[in-house]
Amino acid sequence: MNIILLGPPGAGKGTQARLLMEGGGLVQLSTGDMLRAAVAAGSEVGKQARAVMEAGQLVSDEIVIGVVSERLDAPDVKAGVIFDGFPRTAAQAEALDRLLAGKGLVLDAVISIEVDDELLVDRVSGRFTCGACGEGYHDTHKMPARDGVCDNCGATEFKRRADDNAETVRARLAAYHADTAPLIGYYTAAGKLRTVDGMAGIGEVARAIREVLG
Ligand code: ADP
Ligand code: ADP
Ligand code: ZN
Repeated sequence: MNIILLGPPGAGKGTQARLLMEGGGLVQLSTGDMLRAAVAAGSEVGKQARAVMEAGQLVSDEIVIGVVSERLDAPDVKAGVIFDGFPRTAAQAEALDRLLAGKGLVLDAVISIEVDDELLVDRVSGRFTCGACGEGYHDTHKMPARDGVCDNCGATEFKRRADDNAETVRARLAAYHADTAPLIGYYTAAGKLRTVDGMAGIGEVARAIREVLG
């Protein structure tokens, strides 16, 4: 099964992708994580993406499509992919159609996680992750059970993203509405779109996703 999690910054795409992976088999493909890794590694892609990401703008289609295309050549994706944060533009959606078709893969569903803009600033501003395993947390909605200790792996180092501040979130939201929200129409026309209420709690959203996936 290959699915896309579509939604604005802070909607819960990464959180739900990790929960879906627990079921087994599926691989999370987060272009944000891949680009951050490229920035950290100082690669050519990282050098080109860094300033754009810090400003909350979209990295060029050419770069992102290149990164995804390469990732889809790895054998582990055959089990099924959860696309998290990709595609974000019409050009990316069309490129993904071509990439999947070229590999004989099928897109099963696009899950649109709907959350009002007002809530997203809080979601993004309160976000932090485990430095060791990447588990996601939130200052008010999802604190580790033991203060300062990751529930998932026991590590005690956490990190916050440079672009997770109220100012940059506004730019990212603007990019979402201008370039990514139109994909809802694209995938509705393709008969692939399923919608879930992302304002509900994490567990409830996870249940709703399992339900629409059947
Ligand atoms: P995205 O990948 O869409 O940007 P995340 O999955 O990183 O979003 O979630 C953003 C923040 O909101 C994280 O701190 C996460 O713990 C929290 N969060 C995710 N889903 C929910 C939810 N349904 N209710 C409350 N907080 C949530
Ligand atoms: P979030 O889900 O919280 O919006 P991501 O981790 O998906 O954050 O993305 C962080 C940043 O990485 C984006 O603001 C953008 O600069 C870049 N990025 C990630 N995915 C894409 C993409 N598919 N196209 C263009 N830029 C991207
Ligand atoms: Zn951890």
